[in-house]
Amino acid sequence: MAVFALVTGVTHRVAAFGYRGGSFFERRDFAMAGTFVKHPQGDLLIDTGFGRNIKEQFLTMPLLFRAMTFYKLRQPAADQLKDAGYDQKSLRAILITHAHWDHVSGLPDFPGVPVLVTPLEREFISKGGSGQFGKPFTGIRYEEYGFEGGPYLGFPGSHDVYGDGAIVVVPASGHTPGGVIIFLTLHNGTRYALVGDLVWQREGITFREERPWIIRKFADSDREGTRENLLRIIALKGSLPELIIVPAHDMRGFAEMPTLPPVNFITVSHVPIVTP
Ligand SMILES: [Zn+2]
Ligand SMILES: [Zn+2]
Repeated sequence: MAVFALVTGVTHRVAAFGYRGGSFFERRDFAMAGTFVKHPQGDLLIDTGFGRNIKEQFLTMPLLFRAMTFYKLRQPAADQLKDAGYDQKSLRAILITHAHWDHVSGLPDFPGVPVLVTPLEREFISKGGSGQFGKPFTGIRYEEYGFEGGPYLGFPGSHDVYGDGAIVVVPASGHTPGGVIIFLTLHNGTRYALVGDLVWQREGITFREERPWIIRKFADSDREGTRENLLRIIALKGSLPELIIVPAHDMRGFAEMPTLPPVNFITVSHVPIVTP
């Protein structure tokens, strides 16, 4: 298995937006990103970051939110994969950490590719949960999964996507009702925790600082749930210091992941896939 960072764009923020105690003067670009996972049993995209229609989609967001949000599109995930010579028809599915706008914007760029969600997140989507676009997407094929596996790394249940321990999803409701955390474990033992929006910046874990309360109030469905999962990840990082924490909006997490190799590298069958 191999994983690649697909940073599709950024929002221009300050550190204070990301965690309690952060500076209002420290400018910080928040990553809007996906993660491409090349797995022998089927490739996955985890979150999409900004998609091709972000400009039109953004206009459907509430005015106050737009007034506070400045973003820059770099390149949508679908185009990054295409430029690397990857045929998106080879994707097994798109797995989302949660259904907020900045994580699902690119779903329409992958027509026909199933989207893996928990039943709770599916319900959140169907109710037009907060933080989504004004107009819901149509024609998306959702596939639901459950947490039939036992406890995993301090979380009460788990879903092992291919049964080999490489991609394990655990429930992490709080930020949204059916949000998840995804653990990716490479052959060499490198392990990433894609924590979605549990925290926006790593200081949320290293400094044990939640988002500022006003942001929590608007951004989290259930603040207690977020706190409970934050404490689980803090404890886990304490016992596994080598664990690479990748908050969905922290550039530093994605910087610890390889980027896509040059054209044709990943599609030519006789070229072995290197596990970084
Ligand atoms: Zn979110
Ligand atoms: Zn987000």
